[in-house]
Amino acid sequence: MPGSLIPVDDAIQQLSARASVLVGTETVSLLAALGRVLAEDISAPNSVPAADNSAMDGYAVRAADVSAGAVLTISDRIPAGTVGNSLVTVTAARIFTGALIPKGADAVVIQEDTELKGDLVVLNVTPRKGDHVRQAGQDIRAGSTILTKGRRLRAQDIGLLASVGYDAISVYAKLKVGVMSTGDELVDPPAALGPGQIYNSNHYTLQALLLQLNMQPVDLGMVADTPKATIAALQKGSETADCILSSGGVSVGEEDHVKSAVESLGKLELWRLAIKPGKPLAFGRIAETPFFGLPGNPVSGFVTFMLIARDYLLRCQGCTETELTTVYGAADFDFKGGGRREYLRVQLHFDATGRSTVTGFHNQGSGVMSSVSWANGLAEIEIGQNVSKGDLVKVLLLN
Ligand code: AMP
Ligand code: MG
Repeated sequence: MPGSLIPVDDAIQQLSARASVLVGTETVSLLAALGRVLAEDISAPNSVPAADNSAMDGYAVRAADVSAGAVLTISDRIPAGTVGNSLVTVTAARIFTGALIPKGADAVVIQEDTELKGDLVVLNVTPRKGDHVRQAGQDIRAGSTILTKGRRLRAQDIGLLASVGYDAISVYAKLKVGVMSTGDELVDPPAALGPGQIYNSNHYTLQALLLQLNMQPVDLGMVADTPKATIAALQKGSETADCILSSGGVSVGEEDHVKSAVESLGKLELWRLAIKPGKPLAFGRIAETPFFGLPGNPVSGFVTFMLIARDYLLRCQGCTETELTTVYGAADFDFKGGGRREYLRVQLHFDATGRSTVTGFHNQGSGVMSSVSWANGLAEIEIGQNVSKGDLVKVLLLN
């Protein structure tokens, strides 16, 4: 295994094949379900709308009985939320948006197409059956599946669930993800930095990424660059979390202990990808607990999380919609692809005519976190791909 680099797509495929749902389910109130993963298919207990109703303010009539010029008695008044009487033959019923179409009526003439003459209404148009009527079930048919298991619920899904009467829903429990940062140089903010020290920013990046996915970070702390400390943290992680993420210490230097710690406790299943940045990424298991060893360089850690770990973790949380949105835009730069697939930090913009431009950050170094903060996408440059200004490049959107 060492020596050869695993292509990114192979790694994603192998990992997704190995991922299984690691959490149970819980019932939560509708608003608490926002961003959570639906744990069951949802079928509609009733139709929406439940019955034919008016799409506009106007007059309910029976289309076959009337035509333009008709002068009609107004036999009823039906606001939304009330039930009118059956339509008296060859009359009109005043009706308002959302009100039930009375029995005997089958069309609505909108008020703009009528005139009032004393107590009577004059139609200025000839209605056709069904005009301005929302048919029962035109939005949702009773018994139909409206949302499927594995979906990450969005605001509009929450509204859809409420529209058929749900106030609570079964979702997958939050995946508990242990986060540990290796490195003797690390200091937690806001402590003052000593010589050679840096802030443990990855700890925050990774936890924030997990929170965005509605997962529950478990703090496994900062870990000294020793085999003993690394092993202890991994062990603690396997006992307290469903999955473990580590940052740093996964290369082949003398201060890198993650790989050998995983091998001594469990099994290393993948190591070293044909990806830039992020080559030293590792995947394995501590006992049964899946483990991702992300590289310490902040950009490498971010990119490998987004490209590799994110998909796997979402699957462990029951989510089936894991793909990042992909778009294409015209590069405003020249670039020569190398021996690994490369992910450039870019901003994608659309102009008023819909043309998109992809701009790269001026410094693509793997330690330059401002590039990630600045970017709204990652441009995917294939091995050996030569990009000239104006060429379309693939961009994975970050927001
Ligand atoms: P490593 O993967 O441990 O060799 O670290 C690679 C680079 O990333 C080094 O410059 C580290 O100082 C830096 N680094 C490692 N861990 C972190 C972290 N938690 N936060 C910010 N930078 C880190
Ligand atoms: Mg290190």
